[in-house]
Amino acid sequence: MSTTKKYVFAFEEGDGKNKKLLGGKGANLCEMTQIGLRVPPGFVISTEACLAYLDDSDRRLPGGVMDEVRAQMKGLEAKTGKSFGGRDNCLLVSVRSGSALSMPGMMDTILNLGLNAETLEGLIAQTGNERFGYDAYRRFVQLFGKVALGVPDHEFDTEFEAAKARAGVKHDVGLSAKDLKEISERFLEVVERVTGKPFPTDPYAQLEIAIKAVFNSWSGKRAVDYRREFHITPDMANGTAVNIVTMVFGNMGDDSATGVGFTRDPGTGENVMFGEYLTNAQGEDVVAGIRTPKPVAAMKEEMPELHRQLLELRNQLETHYKEVQDFEFTIEKGVLYCLQTRNGKMNAVALVRTSVEMEKEGLIDKRQALLRIQPEMLEQLLFPRLDPKAKAKAVAKGLPASPGAASGIAVFDADRAEKLGRGGQKVILVREETKPEDIHGFFASQGILTSRGGKTSHAAVVARGMGKPCVAGAEGIHVDVRLRQAIVGDSVFREGEMITIDGSSGKVYLGEAPMIEAEFTDELVTLLQWADDVARLQVRANADTPDDAARAVKFGAMGIGLCRTERMFNAVDRLPIVVEMIVAESIEERQAALDKLLPIQRSDFKEILKAMAPRPVTVRLLDPPIHEFLPTADQLVDEIEELRHLRDTARGLQVLSDAVDFIARGRGAQPQAQVQHNVDPVLVEEVIQKKEAMLRKVRALFEVNPMLGHRGVRLGLTFPEIYSMQIRAVLEAAAECQREGVEVHPEIMVPQVCTAQELKRVKTYVDAIRHAVETHYGVKVDCKFGTMMEVVRACMRAENLAEEAEFFSFGTNDLTQATFSFSREDAENKFLPMYNEKQILQDNPFEVLDVKGVGRLMELAVGWGRGTRPDMKVGICGEHGGHPASIKFCHRIGLTYVSCSGPRVPIARLAAAHAALTEAASGTQSL
Ligand code: ADP
Ligand code: MG
Ligand code: MG
Repeated sequence: MSTTKKYVFAFEEGDGKNKKLLGGKGANLCEMTQIGLRVPPGFVISTEACLAYLDDSDRRLPGGVMDEVRAQMKGLEAKTGKSFGGRDNCLLVSVRSGSALSMPGMMDTILNLGLNAETLEGLIAQTGNERFGYDAYRRFVQLFGKVALGVPDHEFDTEFEAAKARAGVKHDVGLSAKDLKEISERFLEVVERVTGKPFPTDPYAQLEIAIKAVFNSWSGKRAVDYRREFHITPDMANGTAVNIVTMVFGNMGDDSATGVGFTRDPGTGENVMFGEYLTNAQGEDVVAGIRTPKPVAAMKEEMPELHRQLLELRNQLETHYKEVQDFEFTIEKGVLYCLQTRNGKMNAVALVRTSVEMEKEGLIDKRQALLRIQPEMLEQLLFPRLDPKAKAKAVAKGLPASPGAASGIAVFDADRAEKLGRGGQKVILVREETKPEDIHGFFASQGILTSRGGKTSHAAVVARGMGKPCVAGAEGIHVDVRLRQAIVGDSVFREGEMITIDGSSGKVYLGEAPMIEAEFTDELVTLLQWADDVARLQVRANADTPDDAARAVKFGAMGIGLCRTERMFNAVDRLPIVVEMIVAESIEERQAALDKLLPIQRSDFKEILKAMAPRPVTVRLLDPPIHEFLPTADQLVDEIEELRHLRDTARGLQVLSDAVDFIARGRGAQPQAQVQHNVDPVLVEEVIQKKEAMLRKVRALFEVNPMLGHRGVRLGLTFPEIYSMQIRAVLEAAAECQREGVEVHPEIMVPQVCTAQELKRVKTYVDAIRHAVETHYGVKVDCKFGTMMEVVRACMRAENLAEEAEFFSFGTNDLTQATFSFSREDAENKFLPMYNEKQILQDNPFEVLDVKGVGRLMELAVGWGRGTRPDMKVGICGEHGGHPASIKFCHRIGLTYVSCSGPRVPIARLAAAHAALTEAASGTQSL
């Protein structure tokens, strides 16, 4: 057994599956080497070395690492026939970071390491290309200076821009060898001035500094921020590996190039190679958006043989990885090298389409097709897009870099975008190009607009990863960051002005353009069908109106899990009747109001039942405290005051008018209403009395703690006529549907129940009314009777409740409040953020189901309920019902269905499938 740990692995020997050890980039470089793709020779220094180094208080590389590196460098020399630090045929390498999870642009790469005055001379002599030599050199000095020695970018940029200005060129390709030579000399001076030390010339010294710098970058601010934002925990990615890769040059002339490719179009999912390249350029140029690159299709004309090879590479990558790949390539003097591959980040449209198509192509199976899409991603498909009918006129056009449309105020830097975005403003981040340090601005923005760069520029890649719309390289826009404005043709938009971008077409509009909701694609329908086939949980929707119901069906809801009847009460034409019912002083008065409500509720229920037929519809009887339908006492007091005033004025006017008439008559003239008074004081008096009665009622209904007060079933038992009307409305609606031959399955659900006695009583109403309705209509009505589970006692008495209830539905919003004894509003506004920050509670239990407490209670209640009634249907209708993690839990404790808002139904369907698939997989190998 060897005593020293192995930290360094040649591409030929590293385990391509071990991303935790080798990082994603390193593992894939090993794997690609081992399956025979042309990768420049290199090796990986493991993440273990990184962690050991960061742990060491003196920041020393763990013992043996540099020896292993030296041995590996010898190996590279042997493989390439070059020599590291040698004047003739010198070996240059890149030093690249890469952790287990891809963190695009998060850590910097150093290219052309090994150059110094001597090797540079050799390189120039060997290639006979002075321009190339100095170009490589200045890149190295800048990158090494920045990444390894911490010299700020702008120190170099200033020199570089000055040199371009002196040479009178716009792009770096226009610079001559002499210009580049001068630039590299200036760069060396910059380094010496800023660091106080001459630029290191010994290649091994350069290598060691660079390795340490990459390791350090793991704990740098940018990387730490990124991990926090994306909740990347140490067990997902811990430390970065370093990849040392033999340099290949895309900047050796017109038979050289560098580019980035996707095996399929990551914007649409279409099965065509997608990508961009630049001839005579090196590495970063494409991504940095320095020149606008050409689409790979153009390569077919320019370098047909290489285009063919690139297609072959693409096919090999997909066949091997069975996933859409995002890869980097470089062509050096007509030879194609692959420098990186990773799973392609795609938007939801592309994910869904590629899932379905790859399954059809036999590349993956249905299980993989479902599992490769995170349910939350589907939310993007519900993104609005521009209404084509509105025919808004675009002012500029860039590249459609990340689909979807967004409007917001233009903001010209990331810090401001963050500030305004956090403040609740809708923001579009507008930049010439973006850099990794702009990332916080992305999070806060609705979309990103750049005037430079291609579809694989930083802005485009990051926006696509986040599913945010992006228009890149809109060259018609002149962005002036200092003046905080942009000029487009002859118009200007300033910071704070509304603009709209369409990342699907690349168009930019001034102002806010009208949008329409997204629609289901055929692929999504197919995918969700597969999901339903494997899921055990059903997915229902919460829907309160016939419109909601129709929409829920479109989203694939298998029923309605919660129809809140009080929503219907709030419609303008109904509220007065509801109020009448509440303020009624006698049973007769109340009944008269209820008689008016009955046909209205019946026709609502009928429409909902029909829209959902033959799916089940759970109707919840009236739940909120009734004072919620009345104005507040303060409001009434003000109104009464005002009315009294009006009444007195009207009376005064009456007196005045009578006097005038009297005089007119005395003069023998016709009495004419000289003073108009169209307010009848008697009527006003009546209104005042009504309001006063209402005020008395409001005061009588006042409760200290209404949410724990007279509501739900408590109310239903106090005023049986209210629940009776609702029950009758449901049953008559069902009977009418049934008579029309429409199969319907209503379910009546009682809210706020805490004891079986309550259920028993409501059930007597149901039984009596059902009997009457069935006799009257001459049909049998299928109707289940059940209860909400939102009171702790109900859960504890589940066994008894199950004797009356045919189904349970967990109302986890109230149940969470009841279990924690937190009132949601107070908790969220006062102390929950502090609790989360101090880790007293991990999450907000109103957003993420508290599995340990509330969940435990649910699990017990399910068990006890099914003990009494084994076939008991159990669902969840709280907000949690639409969240994948909660859905997984609901699956585990054996619920029958989850119910969530209509637009979340597709997400829940996919999550339900994931729950089933991953459960089946636990124990066996996961994907
Ligand atoms: P990132 O993780 O930011 O993509 P990379 O390590 O992939 O950083 O490198 C940045 C750029 O440099 C890429 O375009 C890459 O292809 C290029 N590059 C890296 N190593 C080499 C090399 N050995 N030869 C040529 N180009 C390289
Ligand atoms: Mg890369
Ligand atoms: Mg409730």
